[in-house]
Amino acid sequence: MAVSEFDLIKDYFNKPGLTPTPEQYVRIPLGIGDDCAVLDLPPEKFLAVSMDTLVADVHFPTQADPNLIAQRALAVNLSDLAAMGAEPLAFTLALSLPKAEESWLQGFSLGLEQMIQTYHCPLIGGDITKGPLSITIQVHGLLDKGKLLTRKDAKPGDLVYVSGALGAAGLAISLMSNGMSLDKPDTKELQAAYYQPLPRITLGQSIVGLASAAIDISDGLMADLGHIAQQSSVGIELNAKAIPIALVVKKFMSTMGDKTKGLNLALTAGDEYELALTVAEDQQEEFLKTTAKLDVPLTLIGRVVKGSRVKCLDNDGHEIEIKTFGYRHF
Ligand code: ADP
Ligand code: MG
Repeated sequence: MAVSEFDLIKDYFNKPGLTPTPEQYVRIPLGIGDDCAVLDLPPEKFLAVSMDTLVADVHFPTQADPNLIAQRALAVNLSDLAAMGAEPLAFTLALSLPKAEESWLQGFSLGLEQMIQTYHCPLIGGDITKGPLSITIQVHGLLDKGKLLTRKDAKPGDLVYVSGALGAAGLAISLMSNGMSLDKPDTKELQAAYYQPLPRITLGQSIVGLASAAIDISDGLMADLGHIAQQSSVGIELNAKAIPIALVVKKFMSTMGDKTKGLNLALTAGDEYELALTVAEDQQEEFLKTTAKLDVPLTLIGRVVKGSRVKCLDNDGHEIEIKTFGYRHF
């Protein structure tokens, strides 16, 4: 690289807005600049750790706006903290770049800064190498000791909820994989759904101790509820009519004259980053009271049952056959 790795780090990563604030330095005595970052964990907390890689032309188009790529890279990682009910603490960033293009780095750094400010999760270290464009982020979060929100404690009779409205990110992917740019006024909403998903951090933190299981639906609602079903040894029945489909998806599908695909997208499309969760019936009142204070739409979509499969039922209780929508990541 023409510019030294040290200059890149100084200009785009080791700067106020990205690195810990003075208050955050209490838990992070050492950030970027030494051989390791150092965390000082409160004795009553567990450290939650998760990592996701985004590879150019696999997880996003190479030509995409670097600001949006950065937002997405951090959002998908924060979503895993949300699904555990963890409070964001800090993240590290491993960047593989074909060349040191300053305008790209500028945009990328700004995108990170926006997310860092919103979610109070500073950058504390990383690595830069020359190679095909790829971004790996490892997030660190804090959990109260002994209070784990996992995938394995759903029980028959529990209620199943999902946050947000589904299908827009999946629709964005299918349009992009057909070569469509989303950078136009009438597709901006889809672009945002894909690149700027909202990690449900506050929701995750407030349902610890109330929900019996939770997961972020990055692989799609049915597939990820399948993980809860498998790890909790239960079945799940969804009510097709209750599945919240994003308005933008409904509109798009009605202009295409095809209504079933909207439901299909909502049930199967990945890259959603909403939370699906289960709540015991005797916790429902407390759950509704707690989550009513948050600005997060929640929809009751089904029940945990005895069994092992995730089914989606129509009004008559018949299982709906789920066709996959036929798109893949790029
Ligand atoms: P080392 O040779 O010990 O691996 P580096 O030269 O790779 O150290 O990094 C120097 C410092 O800059 C380290 O503190 C490292 O964590 C940080 N760093 C390197 N790349 C990044 C990055 N992409 N984002 C944030 N910090 C980084
Ligand atoms: Mg290094």
